[in-house]
Amino acid sequence: MTTPPAIVILGVGAQATARRVQARYEGAQVHGLQGRVTDADVSFSELGVHLGELYASGTPIVALCAAGIVIRCLAPLLANKGIEPPVLAVAEDGSAVVPLLGGLSGVNTMAREIAAALDVPPAITTSGELRFGACVLNPPDGYTLASLDQGKRFVSDLLAGEATRIEGDAPWLDGVQLPRADDAQRAIRVTPLAWSGAADELVIHPRSVAVAVAVDATATGDGLHERILDAARAQGLAATSLAVLLAPLSLMGNPALQRAATALQVALRYSAEPGAPGHAVDMLNQTLRVPHTTLAADTKTPIAFAVAHAPLDPATVGRARGKLSVIGLGPGDASLLAPAARAALAQATDILGYETYVKMAGPFRADQRVHGTDNREEMQRARHAFELASAGRRVAMVSSGDPGVFAMAAAVLEALDDARDEPQCAAWAAVELEIVPGISAALATAAQAGAPLGHDFCMLSLSDNLKPWSIIETRLRHAAEADLVMAFYNPISRARPWQLDKALDIVRAFRAPKTIVVLGRDIGRPGATLKTKTLSELKSADVDMRTMVIIGSSTTRVFRPAGSGQEWAYTPRWYE
Ligand code: SAH
Repeated sequence: MTTPPAIVILGVGAQATARRVQARYEGAQVHGLQGRVTDADVSFSELGVHLGELYASGTPIVALCAAGIVIRCLAPLLANKGIEPPVLAVAEDGSAVVPLLGGLSGVNTMAREIAAALDVPPAITTSGELRFGACVLNPPDGYTLASLDQGKRFVSDLLAGEATRIEGDAPWLDGVQLPRADDAQRAIRVTPLAWSGAADELVIHPRSVAVAVAVDATATGDGLHERILDAARAQGLAATSLAVLLAPLSLMGNPALQRAATALQVALRYSAEPGAPGHAVDMLNQTLRVPHTTLAADTKTPIAFAVAHAPLDPATVGRARGKLSVIGLGPGDASLLAPAARAALAQATDILGYETYVKMAGPFRADQRVHGTDNREEMQRARHAFELASAGRRVAMVSSGDPGVFAMAAAVLEALDDARDEPQCAAWAAVELEIVPGISAALATAAQAGAPLGHDFCMLSLSDNLKPWSIIETRLRHAAEADLVMAFYNPISRARPWQLDKALDIVRAFRAPKTIVVLGRDIGRPGATLKTKTLSELKSADVDMRTMVIIGSSTTRVFRPAGSGQEWAYTPRWYE
């Protein structure tokens, strides 16, 4: 199973069972109903919508609620049996495990695993599975069925009384009570070779083939995927037997290679090119650490194959291209974290950032390395991130809010830019770098207050750590004069006690005393506070380093709708 399951709970009564299921699956997250579950990893507000989204994205679902609820939520989506993820209902006290959907994607296997973890028998209802003790059509990770339709015919023949031989290595069938006979006409064949179409065979392909491409193979750019498939076909290999695409280190980051690996659905790994460049066979022999046979048109071919005796774990072949994801956590609340940032955190082998934010991004798995550092060592942290990523690790660099707003993204790019003439430059440049946006403090605060940024605005950091105070004064003057709404980041700190008062003096020279000011503190975090004041009331003692200060323009206003307790601040879209 590649995607870890979402464990969905509707109340605190299910939390203990949820954590037991979670412990069984690396990367699994507990999804809790907002308002009912307090310490979920992910929270959602509507069960039907949430289950539908999980199902559509192919995420395995373990719902700790009545089977009927799950069925009603997913019924409108049950179109294509071939692509559905496993869906199980588990009693919230852990007393029953009911596989519902995803017979071909391993739901019964999951039911057995969860049942074993909860120490109860699973409620298996699939006839082939009951008769034989395993679903023949759902081989374990590392194996793929050649044809589902043929497989279904084959299993119904066995249920009708036919026997079968097993050809090839199928260790997972050892404990299965299949009707076997060495002279049977039917055969389960485990082979990396393509299925011939014979009706009396059930062909299962192990993902045991590595394909290597030499530099020459990528010279023409596009069409690499088709050329690999043609070469595989010429060797009689099934495309689904391919486990890994191996390329020379010098091609790391090459887009044609990446497109080919994506189209082939294989892992892309790299190794040094051997003595004779362009010899893919040599690359395979030098890199593969398991017994294998090479297949190639000739020793100089730029595309060659190696067939191992068992499925290949791509992680053991050469090395990966490292990745650096610079992500924004949003203001703090898990519901305001972008799914792309969540995915980067789940995939990361290493997490870097200022301690407070790293804590906010957790909890992390035991296999993830956390490198928390002091807030001020930004350049050093950025270089460290590149060092880790260029060694093949997947690094998540975390900032609060948006990583590009007074945070790590610019430091990371500066480190890369500065390394232009350094020896490590090529290795750093080969790292897959992505910047994942987040909800910045000004936006999160504005949303709480209403829409104070509804018209032109600017964002300013009042910190003079990295820029001279005179620049800040000039910008404040111009922004105040231009009647822009202003969002102040880093408004004050112990080391910068006087700057905010000075900034307010400048603003007051241009703005009326009744100008609306919004103060958001720890927005999206426990103990959040939101206050609206006028510019004349505002004192620097109202503000600390965890506060966002939004100074309204001449048109920013507050109102309280009739009969409603809540006051709203907004800046109209129009201007007089
Ligand atoms: N990258 C961050 C900003 C980092 S600068 C972002 O996009 O939000 C740090 C400043 O942001 C703090 O001094 C404070 O002014 C503001 N800030 C960050 N998180 C905040 C929050 N949850 N509530 C209010 N202000 C916050």
